[in-house]
Amino acid sequence: MKLAELGEFGLINRIAEKVAPSPSVPLGIGDDAAALLPAPGTVTLITSDMLLEGVHFDLSFCDPQSLGRKSLAVNLSDLAAMGAHPRHFLLGIAIPPRIPVDFIDLFTAGILEEAARFEVTLVGGDTCASQAGLVISITALGEQRPELVVKRSGAAAGDLIYLTGTVGDAAAGLRDLRQGVREGFLVQRQLDPQPRVAAGVALAEAGLASAMIDVSDGVLSDLSHICELSRVGARLDLDRLPLSPEYRASCGADPFALALSGGEDYELLFCARKERGGELQALFESQGLRLTEIGEIVAGEGVELVTASGSSYAPELRGFDHFG
Ligand code: ADP
Ligand code: MG
Repeated sequence: MKLAELGEFGLINRIAEKVAPSPSVPLGIGDDAAALLPAPGTVTLITSDMLLEGVHFDLSFCDPQSLGRKSLAVNLSDLAAMGAHPRHFLLGIAIPPRIPVDFIDLFTAGILEEAARFEVTLVGGDTCASQAGLVISITALGEQRPELVVKRSGAAAGDLIYLTGTVGDAAAGLRDLRQGVREGFLVQRQLDPQPRVAAGVALAEAGLASAMIDVSDGVLSDLSHICELSRVGARLDLDRLPLSPEYRASCGADPFALALSGGEDYELLFCARKERGGELQALFESQGLRLTEIGEIVAGEGVELVTASGSSYAPELRGFDHFG
């Protein structure tokens, strides 16, 4: 079926009828605005991420269902990095007429599958026709008690720096996709990022993270954001960067380039006081998630890259910058 046959309101209804009701949404899709019930004692954390065809995704190698999951996942990752429980989201889509209804059905199924997994409810959005590429804009809302929200600005000299999971995989996966590879761990990491929601919430609620960010633009760029906002510097131990076996096998002579500057891994990068190391290890063991200490916050500014041999490393690539 073509979108022209379904029409704007047909499409909205088609999405709305698949949305499960939620007690925190007394009024959802269908009116001029939705009404939400916040949990008592919480602040709302709100974040927005746009995905543009040709910039963030390529329809020649990304299937609609994964695209749906990823569109929501990148927003949930931002909420995770604040330590917030994700609750609701809005979906804006601008769709070129060439896209079939089947595609939108699969895309919606992917989004709602991710939403069910993280117990977030679609509460509204906007739908337009696009004269250019497909545009997806999601705004996600989360909640947390105000004193538990983790900002980028709380790191202090002496804090240790940690990463969840592994880095570099998603960028290596994108490189593989562009070379025609269509499966494997790295491709999966690019197409289907896993937002670290449970870890982010647990870190916040245990008061363990002094500062936190999700790795969307690359470790180097994202750690620099923490340093700037916390007015500190960092010493990053390159030999400790958590790299997957698949990444190591494919990275060639320079194992650090994509791990530092590739981005899109959606892991959490956070700082914690040194004396909380034992608690952190226990928390991550219970979560079954890999945790790696990768360096230390120092007085001053900037990120210094060090290796075990003491040699310095000057990265060729910067993190992703839309205008850079
Ligand atoms: P208005 O013209 O008043 O902005 P719309 O006709 O755009 O309203 O939307 C009607 C209803 O459908 C609203 O509740 C809106 O939030 C919802 N909606 C529109 N597009 C989407 C979408 N892509 N996903 C979910 N809800 C949507
Ligand atoms: Mg509208």
